[in-house]
Amino acid sequence: MKAIVTGGAGFIGSHLVDALIERGAQVHVLDNLSTGHLGQVHPQALLHQHDVESPEAKALAVRLKPDLVFHLAAQADVQQSVKQPGYDARVNVLGTLNMLEACREAGVRKLIFASTSGVYGDLEKELIEEGDPVSPISFYGLSKLAAEQYIRLFHRLFDLSYTILRYGNVYGPRQQAKGEGGVVALFTDRLKQGQPIRIFGDGEQTRDFVYVRDVVQANLACIVEGGQQTFHVSTGRPVTVNTLVRELEKLSGALVEADYLPSRQGDIRHSCLDNRKILAALAWRPAYDISSGLRETYANASSPP
Ligand code: NAD
Repeated sequence: MKAIVTGGAGFIGSHLVDALIERGAQVHVLDNLSTGHLGQVHPQALLHQHDVESPEAKALAVRLKPDLVFHLAAQADVQQSVKQPGYDARVNVLGTLNMLEACREAGVRKLIFASTSGVYGDLEKELIEEGDPVSPISFYGLSKLAAEQYIRLFHRLFDLSYTILRYGNVYGPRQQAKGEGGVVALFTDRLKQGQPIRIFGDGEQTRDFVYVRDVVQANLACIVEGGQQTFHVSTGRPVTVNTLVRELEKLSGALVEADYLPSRQGDIRHSCLDNRKILAALAWRPAYDISSGLRETYANASSPP
C-alpha cells in the first residue's frame, strides 16, 4: 500500500506515519515543516517539502499515484486563524482543494481527512452528535467545515471516496505547546519547568481529550471501512481543565500553581463529542482514558533544559 500523509512531520501525522510504516506501507510525507519537524519524520518515510496548496504538491501526488491520502496538513491554531483568516483559508481550504484535485487526477482510492469539533462552534449541548448543526465561531472551524464540504462534493461529482474524522482535543507525545488542543502540552511543559500554569477562564470549561494513539488507530480503521462517513474521534467524556490540572498534580507529585486569566475570543466553552457512531461502524474504540493517556504523555515529555 502506498500512502501520502500530508502534515506527516507534525504531531498527529508523525504518529500516523510510524503506524503505517509498522504495517508495511510505503509512506510519503508531504509537509512544508511550518510547524512540523524533520526529526519527527520516520526514517523510512520519504519527505517532500512542499506547501499543500502549491502546484508542486499537486504534481507530486499525481505522479506518485498513492492508494490513500491522509490529509492532516493544516493551519491548526485557532487563535492564529482569528489573527490571519486569509492564511488559514489558503492552507485549510485551498490546500484541501489542491489535494482533492490531485486525488481525482491520480485516481486515489480514498482520502481520509482530519477535521475538528471546532465546526460546531459553541453549541449548547452536552454531547454533540455528527448530525448536529454546525456554526463555527473561529475561522479555523469555518475553514475546516468548508474543506469538509469540498470533500463531500468531490465524492458527489467525481466519486472520490472519503472519510471525515472530527477529532476531539488530541494530546500525547510530540505535541507542541500551541495550536489546537495544545493545553496538555502547554501544561506539561510549564510543570516540568516549575512554572505556574495559565488558565483562560475559570477552568470549568470542558473538552473531550483523546489520546493520539487512539486517533491513529481510527485513521487506520478507515482504510477499509467508513466510506463517505463523518465520524467523531473522541472519548465521549467531558473533562474540565481543572480536572486536567489535578491529574497532572498526581503525576508530578507536586502542587500545581495556576493563574486564572480572562477567557479568549474564539474559545469554545464546552465540547464533548458523542462517539457512538464510530463505535458502531468501525472496529475502533478508544483504548486510553485521561489518566492513562496523561501518564504516557507525561512520561514521554522532555525535561526542562
Ligand atoms: P501540527 O501543527 O503538529 O501538524 C500540522 C502539520 O502540517 C505540520 O507538520 C505542518 O508543518 C504541516 N503544514 C502546515 N501547513 C502546511 C502547508 N501549507 N503545507 C504543507 N504542510 C503544512 O498539528 P496537529 O495537531 O498534528 O494537527 C494535525 C491535523 O489534525 C490538522 O489538520 C488539525 O487541524 C487536525 N486536528 C488536530 C486536533 C488537535 O487537538 N491537535 C484536533 C482536531 C483536529
